[in-house]
Amino acid sequence: MRINDTQLALVNKQIGALRSAGSFYGKKLAEAGVDGVASAEDFENLPFSEKADLRDAYPLGLMTAPEEDIVRIHSSSGTTGLPVIIPYTKKDVDDWATMFARCYEMAGITKNDRIQITPGYGLWTAGIGFQAGCEKLGAMAIPMGPGNTEKQLKMMVDLKSTVICATSSYALLLAEEIEKRGIKDQICLKKGVIGSERWGESMRKRIHEELGIELYDIYGLTEIYGPGIGINCKYETGMHYWDDYIYIEIIDPVTLKPVPDGEKGEIVITTLVKEGAPLIRYRTHDLSRIIPGECPCGSKFPRLDIIQGRTDDMVKIKGVNVFPSQIEEVLAETEGASSEYQIRISHLDGKDTMRLYVEAQSGSVDFEDLGKRIADKTKAKIGFTPIVKVVELGMLPRSEKKTKRVIDERYE
Ligand code: ZN
Repeated sequence: MRINDTQLALVNKQIGALRSAGSFYGKKLAEAGVDGVASAEDFENLPFSEKADLRDAYPLGLMTAPEEDIVRIHSSSGTTGLPVIIPYTKKDVDDWATMFARCYEMAGITKNDRIQITPGYGLWTAGIGFQAGCEKLGAMAIPMGPGNTEKQLKMMVDLKSTVICATSSYALLLAEEIEKRGIKDQICLKKGVIGSERWGESMRKRIHEELGIELYDIYGLTEIYGPGIGINCKYETGMHYWDDYIYIEIIDPVTLKPVPDGEKGEIVITTLVKEGAPLIRYRTHDLSRIIPGECPCGSKFPRLDIIQGRTDDMVKIKGVNVFPSQIEEVLAETEGASSEYQIRISHLDGKDTMRLYVEAQSGSVDFEDLGKRIADKTKAKIGFTPIVKVVELGMLPRSEKKTKRVIDERYE
Protein backbone atom coordinates (compact mmCIF):
# COMPACT_ATOMS: atom_id res chain seq x y z
CA MET A 1 0.00 0.00 0.00
CA ARG A 2 2.01 2.95 -1.23
CA ILE A 3 1.51 6.41 0.12
CA ASN A 4 -1.32 8.27 -1.66
CA ASP A 5 -1.51 11.91 -2.76
CA THR A 6 -3.58 13.06 0.22
CA GLN A 7 -1.06 11.51 2.57
CA LEU A 8 1.86 12.96 0.60
CA ALA A 9 0.40 16.45 0.94
CA LEU A 10 0.18 15.93 4.71
CA VAL A 11 3.77 14.65 4.85
CA ASN A 12 4.88 17.82 3.07
CA LYS A 13 3.13 19.88 5.73
CA GLN A 14 4.89 17.86 8.45
CA ILE A 15 8.26 18.39 6.75
CA GLY A 16 7.54 22.12 6.44
CA ALA A 17 6.65 22.39 10.14
CA LEU A 18 9.74 20.45 11.20
CA ARG A 19 12.03 22.59 9.07
CA SER A 20 10.61 25.93 10.06
CA ALA A 21 10.70 25.01 13.76
CA GLY A 22 14.35 24.00 13.40
CA SER A 23 13.63 21.13 15.80
CA PHE A 24 15.81 18.03 16.00
CA TYR A 25 14.32 16.41 12.89
CA GLY A 26 13.92 19.74 11.14
CA LYS A 27 17.69 20.14 11.30
CA LYS A 28 18.23 16.59 10.12
CA LEU A 29 15.97 17.09 7.13
CA ALA A 30 17.70 20.38 6.32
CA GLU A 31 21.10 18.64 6.47
CA ALA A 32 19.80 15.93 4.12
CA GLY A 33 18.54 18.66 1.78
CA VAL A 34 14.91 17.53 2.08
CA ASP A 35 12.26 20.21 1.76
CA GLY A 36 9.41 18.09 0.45
CA VAL A 37 8.36 15.01 -1.47
CA ALA A 38 6.63 14.93 -4.86
CA SER A 39 6.02 11.20 -5.24
CA ALA A 40 5.90 7.85 -3.45
CA GLU A 41 9.46 7.22 -4.69
CA ASP A 42 10.63 10.46 -3.08
CA PHE A 43 8.94 9.44 0.13
CA GLU A 44 10.64 6.05 0.14
CA ASN A 45 13.99 7.80 -0.06
CA LEU A 46 13.42 9.91 3.06
CA PRO A 47 15.75 9.06 5.94
CA PHE A 48 14.37 6.85 8.72
CA SER A 49 14.08 7.97 12.31
CA GLU A 50 15.15 5.75 15.18
CA LYS A 51 14.59 5.60 18.91
CA ALA A 52 18.29 6.31 19.46
CA ASP A 53 17.88 9.64 17.60
CA LEU A 54 14.93 10.53 19.81
CA ARG A 55 17.14 10.07 22.86
CA ASP A 56 19.69 12.43 21.34
CA ALA A 57 16.96 15.05 21.26
CA TYR A 58 16.47 14.81 25.06
CA PRO A 59 14.88 16.64 26.74
CA LEU A 60 12.75 18.79 24.43
CA GLY A 61 14.57 18.74 21.10
CA LEU A 62 11.64 17.13 19.33
CA MET A 63 9.34 20.05 20.14
CA THR A 64 8.07 21.34 16.81
CA ALA A 65 5.17 23.56 17.92
CA PRO A 66 5.65 26.82 19.91
CA GLU A 67 6.07 26.18 23.63
CA GLU A 68 2.81 28.03 24.40
CA ASP A 69 0.92 25.38 22.37
CA ILE A 70 2.39 22.39 24.20
CA VAL A 71 -0.05 21.08 26.82
CA ARG A 72 1.54 17.83 27.93
CA ILE A 73 4.53 15.56 27.56
CA HIS A 74 4.79 11.80 27.66
CA SER A 75 7.86 9.71 27.97
CA SER A 76 8.94 6.27 26.97
CA SER A 77 11.80 4.63 28.71
CA GLY A 78 14.18 2.22 27.15
CA THR A 79 16.26 -0.39 28.86
CA THR A 80 19.30 1.86 28.60
CA GLY A 81 20.12 5.52 28.76
CA LEU A 82 17.92 8.57 28.60
CA PRO A 83 14.17 8.50 28.24
CA VAL A 84 12.47 9.87 25.13
CA ILE A 85 10.23 12.90 25.70
CA ILE A 86 7.32 13.48 23.33
CA PRO A 87 5.56 16.88 23.53
CA TYR A 88 1.82 17.06 22.65
CA THR A 89 -0.29 20.04 21.62
CA LYS A 90 -3.99 20.29 22.49
CA LYS A 91 -4.79 19.05 18.99
CA ASP A 92 -2.47 16.04 19.41
CA VAL A 93 -4.15 15.09 22.68
CA ASP A 94 -7.54 15.50 21.05
CA ASP A 95 -6.59 13.55 17.91
CA TRP A 96 -5.30 10.73 20.05
CA ALA A 97 -8.59 10.59 22.00
CA THR A 98 -10.51 10.57 18.70
CA MET A 99 -8.44 7.65 17.42
CA PHE A 100 -8.89 5.81 20.69
CA ALA A 101 -12.65 6.36 20.66
CA ARG A 102 -12.66 4.88 17.14
CA CYS A 103 -10.88 1.84 18.55
CA TYR A 104 -13.57 1.33 21.16
CA GLU A 105 -16.24 1.73 18.48
CA MET A 106 -14.47 -0.77 16.23
CA ALA A 107 -14.69 -3.22 19.14
CA GLY A 108 -18.43 -2.59 19.41
CA ILE A 109 -18.10 -0.68 22.69
CA THR A 110 -20.69 2.07 23.25
CA LYS A 111 -21.45 4.89 25.68
CA ASN A 112 -23.49 2.41 27.70
CA ASP A 113 -20.35 0.46 28.58
CA ARG A 114 -18.36 0.68 31.80
CA ILE A 115 -14.68 0.46 31.05
CA GLN A 116 -12.30 -0.72 33.75
CA ILE A 117 -8.83 0.61 32.95
CA THR A 118 -5.90 -1.28 34.49
CA PRO A 119 -2.87 0.04 32.54
CA GLY A 120 -0.76 2.54 34.49
CA TYR A 121 -1.23 6.32 34.58
CA GLY A 122 1.69 8.71 34.55
CA LEU A 123 4.55 9.64 32.27
CA TRP A 124 3.86 6.90 29.83
CA THR A 125 0.91 6.82 27.51
CA ALA A 126 -1.10 3.82 28.63
CA GLY A 127 -3.82 4.61 31.20
CA ILE A 128 -4.50 8.18 30.15
CA GLY A 129 -5.04 7.13 26.51
CA PHE A 130 -7.59 4.49 27.48
CA GLN A 131 -9.29 7.09 29.68
CA ALA A 132 -9.40 9.95 27.15
CA GLY A 133 -10.81 7.63 24.46
CA CYS A 134 -13.44 6.37 26.87
CA GLU A 135 -14.55 9.89 27.78
CA LYS A 136 -14.56 10.94 24.11
CA LEU A 137 -16.81 7.97 23.35
CA GLY A 138 -19.03 8.85 26.30
CA ALA A 139 -18.66 5.58 28.18
CA MET A 140 -18.00 5.39 31.93
CA ALA A 141 -14.32 5.14 32.82
CA ILE A 142 -13.30 3.23 35.93
CA PRO A 143 -9.69 4.44 36.22
CA MET A 144 -8.09 1.75 38.36
CA GLY A 145 -4.50 1.67 37.17
CA PRO A 146 -2.49 -1.49 37.71
CA GLY A 147 -2.31 -3.87 40.66
CA ASN A 148 -4.42 -4.31 43.79
CA THR A 149 -6.26 -7.33 42.45
CA GLU A 150 -8.60 -7.42 45.47
CA LYS A 151 -9.91 -3.94 44.72
CA GLN A 152 -10.01 -4.59 40.96
CA LEU A 153 -12.33 -7.54 41.50
CA LYS A 154 -14.52 -5.69 44.00
CA MET A 155 -15.02 -2.80 41.57
CA MET A 156 -15.55 -5.20 38.68
CA VAL A 157 -18.37 -6.89 40.60
CA ASP A 158 -19.95 -3.87 42.32
CA LEU A 159 -19.77 -1.50 39.34
CA LYS A 160 -20.62 -4.25 36.84
CA SER A 161 -17.73 -3.38 34.51
CA THR A 162 -18.46 -4.55 30.98
CA VAL A 163 -15.03 -3.91 29.43
CA ILE A 164 -11.59 -4.65 30.82
CA CYS A 165 -8.48 -2.90 29.45
CA ALA A 166 -5.27 -4.69 30.39
CA THR A 167 -2.06 -6.30 29.29
CA SER A 168 -2.49 -9.93 28.32
CA SER A 169 -0.63 -11.12 31.42
CA TYR A 170 -2.77 -9.04 33.79
CA ALA A 171 -5.96 -10.16 32.06
CA LEU A 172 -4.86 -13.76 32.58
CA LEU A 173 -4.08 -13.11 36.25
CA LEU A 174 -7.53 -11.59 36.79
CA ALA A 175 -9.15 -14.51 34.96
CA GLU A 176 -7.35 -16.98 37.23
CA GLU A 177 -8.32 -15.07 40.38
CA ILE A 178 -11.97 -14.98 39.30
CA GLU A 179 -11.85 -18.71 38.67
CA LYS A 180 -10.14 -19.36 42.03
CA ARG A 181 -12.74 -17.36 43.96
CA GLY A 182 -15.67 -18.85 42.09
CA ILE A 183 -17.16 -15.41 41.35
CA LYS A 184 -17.54 -15.81 37.60
CA ASP A 185 -21.34 -15.51 37.83
CA GLN A 186 -20.95 -12.05 39.40
CA ILE A 187 -18.78 -10.74 36.56
CA CYS A 188 -20.47 -8.73 33.78
CA LEU A 189 -17.46 -8.40 31.44
CA LYS A 190 -18.20 -8.77 27.73
CA LYS A 191 -15.04 -7.50 26.08
CA GLY A 192 -11.35 -7.12 26.75
CA VAL A 193 -9.10 -4.53 25.09
CA ILE A 194 -5.59 -5.90 25.32
CA GLY A 195 -2.41 -3.93 24.64
CA SER A 196 -0.85 -5.51 21.61
CA GLU A 197 2.28 -7.36 22.50
CA ARG A 198 3.23 -10.77 21.28
CA TRP A 199 1.03 -13.24 23.13
CA GLY A 200 0.44 -16.82 22.19
CA GLU A 201 -2.77 -18.35 20.91
CA SER A 202 -2.99 -20.60 23.99
CA MET A 203 -2.96 -17.59 26.34
CA ARG A 204 -5.63 -15.87 24.24
CA LYS A 205 -7.77 -18.98 24.40
CA ARG A 206 -7.45 -19.24 28.18
CA ILE A 207 -8.44 -15.60 28.77
CA HIS A 208 -11.28 -15.89 26.26
CA GLU A 209 -12.64 -19.07 27.85
CA GLU A 210 -12.11 -18.29 31.52
CA LEU A 211 -13.62 -14.81 31.32
CA GLY A 212 -16.02 -15.61 28.48
CA ILE A 213 -15.19 -12.33 26.72
CA GLU A 214 -14.33 -11.16 23.19
CA LEU A 215 -10.72 -10.00 22.93
CA TYR A 216 -9.42 -7.01 20.98
CA ASP A 217 -5.74 -6.24 20.30
CA ILE A 218 -4.99 -2.54 20.43
CA TYR A 219 -1.78 -1.18 18.92
CA GLY A 220 0.32 1.90 19.52
CA LEU A 221 3.54 3.29 20.94
CA THR A 222 4.41 6.38 22.91
CA GLU A 223 6.51 7.87 20.11
CA ILE A 224 3.39 7.85 17.89
CA TYR A 225 0.64 9.17 20.25
CA GLY A 226 0.38 5.96 22.34
CA PRO A 227 -1.99 2.98 22.26
CA GLY A 228 -5.04 3.54 20.07
CA ILE A 229 -3.70 3.86 16.52
CA GLY A 230 -5.23 0.52 15.53
CA ILE A 231 -7.41 -2.36 16.78
CA ASN A 232 -8.98 -5.51 15.36
CA CYS A 233 -12.70 -5.72 14.61
CA LYS A 234 -14.91 -8.66 15.57
CA TYR A 235 -13.81 -10.65 12.51
CA GLU A 236 -10.28 -10.87 13.99
CA THR A 237 -8.61 -10.46 10.61
CA GLY A 238 -5.91 -8.07 11.81
CA MET A 239 -5.95 -4.57 13.32
CA HIS A 240 -7.56 -1.73 11.38
CA TYR A 241 -5.40 1.38 11.69
CA TRP A 242 -6.21 5.03 11.13
CA ASP A 243 -4.54 5.97 7.88
CA ASP A 244 -5.84 9.53 8.05
CA TYR A 245 -3.55 10.08 11.07
CA ILE A 246 -0.64 7.78 10.33
CA TYR A 247 0.97 6.18 7.31
CA ILE A 248 2.35 2.67 7.84
CA GLU A 249 4.85 0.94 5.62
CA ILE A 250 6.45 -2.47 6.12
CA ILE A 251 10.14 -2.73 5.31
CA ASP A 252 12.66 -5.52 5.09
CA PRO A 253 14.73 -4.85 8.23
CA VAL A 254 17.91 -5.88 6.43
CA THR A 255 17.65 -4.16 3.03
CA LEU A 256 15.43 -1.36 4.47
CA LYS A 257 13.31 -1.49 1.31
CA PRO A 258 9.50 -1.57 1.51
CA VAL A 259 8.06 -5.08 1.00
CA PRO A 260 4.82 -5.88 -0.88
CA ASP A 261 1.52 -6.03 1.04
CA GLY A 262 1.09 -9.37 2.77
CA GLU A 263 4.80 -9.85 3.32
CA LYS A 264 6.23 -9.75 6.79
CA GLY A 265 8.69 -7.10 7.90
CA GLU A 266 9.25 -4.16 10.23
CA ILE A 267 6.52 -1.58 10.87
CA VAL A 268 7.62 1.96 9.99
CA ILE A 269 5.25 4.80 10.89
CA THR A 270 4.94 8.38 9.64
CA THR A 271 2.65 10.80 11.47
CA LEU A 272 0.43 12.82 9.12
CA VAL A 273 -1.06 15.55 11.32
CA LYS A 274 0.99 15.63 14.50
CA GLU A 275 2.06 19.06 15.80
CA GLY A 276 4.07 18.59 18.99
CA ALA A 277 6.56 16.07 17.65
CA PRO A 278 5.96 14.87 14.09
CA LEU A 279 7.91 11.77 13.08
CA ILE A 280 8.86 10.74 9.58
CA ARG A 281 9.48 7.06 8.82
CA TYR A 282 9.91 6.00 12.43
CA ARG A 283 11.29 2.49 12.76
CA THR A 284 9.29 0.65 15.44
CA HIS A 285 11.26 -2.63 15.24
CA ASP A 286 7.88 -4.37 15.64
CA LEU A 287 7.23 -7.12 13.12
CA SER A 288 3.98 -7.55 11.25
CA ARG A 289 2.52 -7.34 7.77
CA ILE A 290 -0.19 -5.41 5.94
CA ILE A 291 -3.18 -7.66 5.30
CA PRO A 292 -4.26 -7.21 1.67
CA GLY A 293 -7.87 -7.04 0.53
CA GLU A 294 -11.05 -5.99 2.30
CA CYS A 295 -12.27 -6.94 5.74
CA PRO A 296 -15.68 -8.65 5.99
CA CYS A 297 -16.73 -5.82 8.36
CA GLY A 298 -16.70 -3.40 5.40
CA SER A 299 -14.36 -0.88 7.03
CA LYS A 300 -12.10 0.88 4.53
CA PHE A 301 -9.35 1.33 7.11
CA PRO A 302 -6.37 -0.87 6.16
CA ARG A 303 -5.26 -3.73 8.36
CA LEU A 304 -2.08 -4.67 10.11
CA ASP A 305 -1.57 -8.22 11.37
CA ILE A 306 -1.11 -8.70 15.11
CA ILE A 307 2.46 -8.04 16.24
CA GLN A 308 4.65 -11.03 15.56
CA GLY A 309 7.78 -10.14 17.48
CA ARG A 310 10.69 -7.74 17.21
CA THR A 311 13.32 -7.36 14.52
CA ASP A 312 15.97 -7.79 17.20
CA ASP A 313 14.91 -11.47 17.36
CA MET A 314 15.40 -12.08 13.64
CA VAL A 315 18.21 -14.21 12.18
CA LYS A 316 19.21 -14.63 8.56
CA ILE A 317 19.78 -18.27 7.56
CA LYS A 318 20.51 -19.40 4.00
CA GLY A 319 19.57 -15.92 2.86
CA VAL A 320 16.11 -16.19 4.47
CA ASN A 321 14.91 -14.03 7.37
CA VAL A 322 13.76 -16.39 10.12
CA PHE A 323 11.83 -15.28 13.18
CA PRO A 324 11.47 -17.35 16.37
CA SER A 325 7.74 -16.57 16.23
CA GLN A 326 7.49 -18.66 13.03
CA ILE A 327 8.92 -21.67 14.86
CA GLU A 328 6.50 -21.02 17.74
CA GLU A 329 3.63 -21.07 15.25
CA VAL A 330 4.81 -24.41 13.85
CA LEU A 331 5.10 -25.95 17.33
CA ALA A 332 1.69 -24.64 18.40
CA GLU A 333 0.04 -26.44 15.50
CA THR A 334 2.03 -29.68 15.80
CA GLU A 335 0.50 -32.34 18.00
CA GLY A 336 2.98 -33.84 20.46
CA ALA A 337 5.34 -30.82 20.48
CA SER A 338 5.72 -28.67 23.61
CA SER A 339 6.37 -24.93 23.41
CA GLU A 340 10.05 -25.25 24.40
CA TYR A 341 12.66 -25.13 21.66
CA GLN A 342 16.13 -23.97 20.77
CA ILE A 343 17.56 -22.96 17.40
CA ARG A 344 21.27 -23.49 16.69
CA ILE A 345 22.77 -22.11 13.54
CA SER A 346 26.19 -23.17 12.30
CA HIS A 347 28.21 -22.81 9.16
CA LEU A 348 29.59 -26.06 7.74
CA ASP A 349 31.30 -26.68 4.39
CA GLY A 350 30.31 -23.27 3.12
CA LYS A 351 26.64 -23.69 4.01
CA ASP A 352 24.39 -22.46 6.81
CA THR A 353 22.77 -25.21 8.84
CA MET A 354 19.84 -24.76 11.17
CA ARG A 355 19.28 -27.30 13.91
CA LEU A 356 16.04 -27.14 15.81
CA TYR A 357 15.78 -28.82 19.20
CA VAL A 358 12.22 -29.34 20.40
CA GLU A 359 10.88 -30.82 23.60
CA ALA A 360 8.12 -33.39 23.15
CA GLN A 361 5.06 -33.25 25.35
CA SER A 362 4.97 -35.83 28.12
CA GLY A 363 3.25 -39.14 27.37
CA SER A 364 3.86 -41.52 24.50
CA VAL A 365 5.22 -39.54 21.58
CA ASP A 366 7.10 -41.06 18.63
CA PHE A 367 10.12 -38.75 18.52
CA GLU A 368 11.12 -39.66 14.97
CA ASP A 369 7.65 -39.11 13.57
CA LEU A 370 7.27 -35.83 15.51
CA GLY A 371 10.64 -34.60 14.22
CA LYS A 372 9.62 -35.31 10.64
CA ARG A 373 6.29 -33.50 11.02
CA ILE A 374 8.01 -30.45 12.53
CA ALA A 375 10.62 -30.45 9.73
CA ASP A 376 7.92 -30.57 7.04
CA LYS A 377 5.85 -27.80 8.60
CA THR A 378 8.92 -25.62 9.12
CA LYS A 379 9.89 -26.02 5.47
CA ALA A 380 6.40 -24.97 4.42
CA LYS A 381 6.70 -21.88 6.61
CA ILE A 382 10.26 -20.65 6.04
CA GLY A 383 11.26 -22.32 2.77
CA PHE A 384 13.99 -24.74 3.85
CA THR A 385 14.20 -27.85 6.00
CA PRO A 386 15.96 -27.64 9.37
CA ILE A 387 17.58 -30.61 11.10
CA VAL A 388 15.07 -31.38 13.86
CA LYS A 389 16.02 -33.15 17.05
CA VAL A 390 13.21 -34.04 19.44
CA VAL A 391 14.19 -34.31 23.10
CA GLU A 392 12.34 -35.23 26.28
CA LEU A 393 10.34 -32.64 28.20
CA GLY A 394 12.61 -30.63 30.53
CA MET A 395 15.84 -31.29 28.59
CA LEU A 396 16.35 -27.79 27.21
CA PRO A 397 17.77 -25.03 29.43
CA ARG A 398 15.30 -22.74 31.21
CA SER A 399 16.05 -19.26 32.42
CA GLU A 400 14.30 -17.07 34.96
CA LYS A 401 14.76 -14.15 32.64
CA LYS A 402 14.07 -14.37 28.94
CA THR A 403 15.17 -17.78 27.68
CA LYS A 404 17.74 -17.61 24.89
CA ARG A 405 16.11 -19.40 21.96
CA VAL A 406 18.59 -18.74 19.19
CA ILE A 407 22.26 -19.63 19.36
CA ASP A 408 24.21 -18.49 16.33
CA GLU A 409 27.50 -20.39 16.14
CA ARG A 410 28.47 -19.06 12.71
CA TYR A 411 30.51 -16.16 13.91
CA GLU A 412 32.07 -17.63 17.04
ZN1 ZN B 1 -12.81 -5.38 10.01
